[in-house]
Amino acid sequence: ALRLVAQRNKVERLLAPLRLSRADLERVQALMKQEMERGLDRESNATSSVRMLPTYVCHTPDGTERGKFLALDLGGTNFRVLVVHVEEDNIHMANEIYVIPTAIMQGTGEALFDHIIECIVDFQMKQKLTGQVLPLGFTFSFPCQQLGLDKAVLLTWTKGFNASGCVGQDVVQLLREAAQRKQHTTLKVVAVVNDTVGTMMACGYHDPKCEIGLIVGTGTNACYMEERANVGTVEGDEGRMCINMEWGAFGDNGCLDGFFTSFDQLVDEKTINAGKQRFEKLISGMYLGEIVRHILLALVEEQVLFRGKPSHNLQNRDIFQTKFLSKIETPGLALLQVQGILCNLELDASYEDSVLVREVCRVVSQRAAHLCAAGMAAVVEKMRESRGLEQLTVTVGVDGTLYKMHPHFSQNLQQMLRELAPRCNVTFLQSEDGSGKGAALVAAVTCREA
Ligand code: ADP
Repeated sequence: ALRLVAQRNKVERLLAPLRLSRADLERVQALMKQEMERGLDRESNATSSVRMLPTYVCHTPDGTERGKFLALDLGGTNFRVLVVHVEEDNIHMANEIYVIPTAIMQGTGEALFDHIIECIVDFQMKQKLTGQVLPLGFTFSFPCQQLGLDKAVLLTWTKGFNASGCVGQDVVQLLREAAQRKQHTTLKVVAVVNDTVGTMMACGYHDPKCEIGLIVGTGTNACYMEERANVGTVEGDEGRMCINMEWGAFGDNGCLDGFFTSFDQLVDEKTINAGKQRFEKLISGMYLGEIVRHILLALVEEQVLFRGKPSHNLQNRDIFQTKFLSKIETPGLALLQVQGILCNLELDASYEDSVLVREVCRVVSQRAAHLCAAGMAAVVEKMRESRGLEQLTVTVGVDGTLYKMHPHFSQNLQQMLRELAPRCNVTFLQSEDGSGKGAALVAAVTCREA
């Protein structure tokens, strides 16, 4: 029994830094608020880790949008071209997935945008749309400095893209030039949209209270409707503008340093963007499995897991995928099945080992959900204050496989958000294909305004 107590103490000591108290989360919330305010301010914008990029999207859908639109979706798992019919109470769409060969992703910008135009031409032929001039919304999920709704300067490529001559250029201009080269005369780009904005707009079509977009998938990011008077980086004081927070980079200036554990440091060091996207690396699908793997390695080292037998397999990066957290944490799953999952990874787990692995998964996914709640609490509280309201009622449009598939993430997020922002009444609405629909809706709202 003494040995068990000693083991338990070791486990507790290792996991303690990952268990965030209410006070910790309030601190994160306050830091996020501070970074948001600095990001919105023209003078201090450069020193904030949260970029707070203006999107020039000034209205969410009001339900009167109608028409037929084209949409492009670049920067998710696939490149797609879509046609979207926005009708009363309904949105129909058809899409084609096109492969972008690695040679083109990492070739010249001209070749990349020529390829995109060729895909549009092919799509229009297949959909019998050749010759029609349809307003086009471009979901381009890379960080951009937007100078207008249809003017977006690429700040940096991510996610395996590295086409030359694009960083520092307006991607709409690059697309228009490619259309000219290809003598494609029906291109009419009206908006460039980030995927968070697309998600907010897609949900906004069904719920006019939707003024926040959230992604928790491979990465994490959020956008929300801010009072224009608070946006110091854009002229004008009337109405609102959607701000793409780029919140994944929260903490990159050192403001979250006290919250990173040794496991987080190990995960960060081995990424291609070490020191960057630090908040994202605590929360999103690309990293949670890796955090768990590093904790398991430490537990083996401490002789409290797998009988202290160092497992060869556990040394392999990315072997423990985030989808395993979802499986292992499934309510009612028999421990025998946890053993089975571990066995597939060639980890020889006893009954006690399975209990411990499940506990580690819970700690890591709960921390992620709670940090996400702290960020979201800063957003909704800022909206409430900016609008001078006692009580704010708002909807968040959400997308991303981690949010949708994990058995406890959304509940943990929502419950903690209620505690951290008690004066805000927040509903979460899952989006279906926000990047496609959303880009078309931005185009539709623009055409409605025009
Ligand atoms: P993206 O954000 O690129 O559009 P997704 O929203 O599909 O893509 O998210 C992909 C991420 O979701 C991957 O990092 C993967 O680890 C994670 N993931 C896949 N399946 C699951 C699951 N069942 N539970 C939790 N996370 C998952």
